[in-house]
Amino acid sequence: MIPYGRQDIDQSDIDAVVEVLKSDFLTQGPKAPAFAEALAERAGALGGVTVNSATSALHIACRALGLSEGGLLWTSPNSFVASSNAGLYCGADIDFVDIDPITRNMSVAALRAKLERAERKPDIVMPVHFSGRSCEMAEIAELGRRHGFRIIEDASHAVGARYNDGPVGDCRYSDICVYSFHPVKIVTTAEGGAALTNDAALLDRMRLLASHGVTRDPALMERPADDEPWLYDQVELGFNYRMTEMQAALGLAQLARLENFVERRAALARRYDERLSALDLGIRLSAMDDATHRSAWHLYVVELPEGRDRAAVFRAMRAEGVGVNVHYIPIHTQPYYRKLGFAPGDFPVAEAYYGCALTLPLHPNLSEADQSFVIETLVRSI
Ligand SMILES: *Cc1c(COP(=O)(O)O)cnc(C)c1O
Repeated sequence: MIPYGRQDIDQSDIDAVVEVLKSDFLTQGPKAPAFAEALAERAGALGGVTVNSATSALHIACRALGLSEGGLLWTSPNSFVASSNAGLYCGADIDFVDIDPITRNMSVAALRAKLERAERKPDIVMPVHFSGRSCEMAEIAELGRRHGFRIIEDASHAVGARYNDGPVGDCRYSDICVYSFHPVKIVTTAEGGAALTNDAALLDRMRLLASHGVTRDPALMERPADDEPWLYDQVELGFNYRMTEMQAALGLAQLARLENFVERRAALARRYDERLSALDLGIRLSAMDDATHRSAWHLYVVELPEGRDRAAVFRAMRAEGVGVNVHYIPIHTQPYYRKLGFAPGDFPVAEAYYGCALTLPLHPNLSEADQSFVIETLVRSI
């Protein structure tokens, strides 16, 4: 099966992990902070914390911003459930903003309209950079200033992406930006995530929350440790969300190849675009890079013509060994979210998009021959 996404592991990755296994620290050593530092430096953010998943990073980001019971978080329905679950973990209420039909990202027009008629404004808005292409962050940040909400970017798909001449992760337009290092994403640590910020206080809080809320930093401790040098203070109810040293070493080795990964993905995306445009199949293609958006190309998604049996196309392509997928089942239609009061019809653009979306294989090791086979299979199946 040609997978829709797959990690790229080379000898430098393997050597980096083996070196850690032979060292003194398997966790809480120098690698996890070094990886956080490298990510922040690359993005031009003040700092970051590396954790065991993007889901954990989103949770501590929400907590660091004070989200709790009685709070409200808005995100995109066209995302993985982890985005909105992070708000639910805090006991907050969740709502969604419908998507833009071209970029499939949170629609700024829909966000503005929803804010203007909202009796209850969100505390946090969490745009999701779907497929690796940044949302319209300058406009969202402007709405944030006007309506008084904080911003967490779910950049799980967008490590290595750029927007308005800056890396996604520089937090120019947000309080916190979250990356995922799941194997299908751009760089991997097996499981893993990171949260970047330009706010020193948020950084301290996220570090605390990621490690039991316990600190030995005299600046954060509530008791003087002068007479009891073994003392640590628990000052928050935190979690054990730590990234291991093996994961961080893998991440550092992967980060060195990030540019290559994104360039290879972008070249394959352009090839899909050129070949599929020429075939005139009546399908809607992914929005390509432009002057302000450089995607990390996590996903290449096509939308089949209305009325076409997507399930039949999906089955036919899978039967030929092409690992197509579907991103995303709108979160609000999940059974758990239906029980919270959401219903089909609530976010019609995301639902219409979902009805015909098909994710084609895209990863750095996809050969041009395999990509051509994917295209031939699509033509045969459609
Ligand atoms: C993958 C993903 C997550 C969760 O990432 P994990 O690292 O697997 O926890 C969250 N949001 C989006 C949009 C994702 O694609």
